[in-house]
Amino acid sequence: SSRYHTDFVELGILGRGGGGEVVKVKNRLDRRIYAIKKILLENGKDKFLQNKKLLREVTTISSVMHKNIVRYYQAWVEGNYKTDASVDHTKKQSILYIQMEYCNTTLRKLLDENAISEMNQSEVWRLVRQIVEALVYIHSRRIIHRDLKPGNIFIDSDLNIILGDFGLATRRHEKSNNKITETEYPEMDAIYNAVEEGMMSSTKGIKGDTSYGVKADIYSLGIMIFEMFCPAFATYMERSETLNRLRSGTPDERFPAAFTTSAPPNAKEIIIWCLERDPTKRPSAEELLKVSRQ
Ligand code: ATP
Ligand code: MG
Ligand code: MG
Repeated sequence: SSRYHTDFVELGILGRGGGGEVVKVKNRLDRRIYAIKKILLENGKDKFLQNKKLLREVTTISSVMHKNIVRYYQAWVEGNYKTDASVDHTKKQSILYIQMEYCNTTLRKLLDENAISEMNQSEVWRLVRQIVEALVYIHSRRIIHRDLKPGNIFIDSDLNIILGDFGLATRRHEKSNNKITETEYPEMDAIYNAVEEGMMSSTKGIKGDTSYGVKADIYSLGIMIFEMFCPAFATYMERSETLNRLRSGTPDERFPAAFTTSAPPNAKEIIIWCLERDPTKRPSAEELLKVSRQ
């Protein structure tokens, strides 16, 4: 029988993404709540297990352990179970289950509810610092997240950052410059996607620079820090226009007047530094930790 159905009660769907769906569950034995990501495998277990791209999330989150990174418990594959309606029995399908810590809310939600703009600056700095701490940790293990955005930053009930969604994460190799092709980014949020433009335009000439890939995460971080210190946006339109000006506006129009009055002065410098067009000029997560410790 199915281990998934034997061990867990489904409480509701948390969302659907490119890879599959994420369900809120309760473990029948320990009575605790978890999030389980189900990824549908088209070609059966054997073929799938060779597919490194789909396994990326498991291999990455199972190798990290940090207070600000989503906790991983276990992963397993089940094939052709009649109990699961989402499986088509005529094709040889199976499901990869990834059991992880359940996270209650995301930075995206808190931003949209204006909960961040109501915080005082030191509270916002504390959140920024925790994101940076998670990045220092993964970057030191040569992991690049590649999908950093407020929707992938979870926040627990004590208002601590839990970095999640390692579905696009990759391990950088010592001797390659880790050039990433666009086709690997079908699901990235349009605005945070700017990361890649910045990366691609300056690929030439820094071949072999091993610190190159991690700077994509730093670019996304810069945009997030901006959003966190920005007064609330009235509409989605205003948000995307403001973020577009930040990315590609003239120096005068990059920061709206309201930002300058609401944000601490060093936030602006840090954001400009993170958004440098040339990735090599952007700070490392470690450098950012030093300047955000105040
Ligand atoms: P895509 O995969 O296209 O980037 P996505 O990031 O929304 O989309 P998933 O990472 O599969 O896709 O997540 C789907 C949904 O499940 C999201 O809404 C996410 O907030 C939620 N979710 C993912 N992991 C957890 C978790 N550990 N705890 C609570 N909710 C989660
Ligand atoms: Mg996500
Ligand atoms: Mg995802």
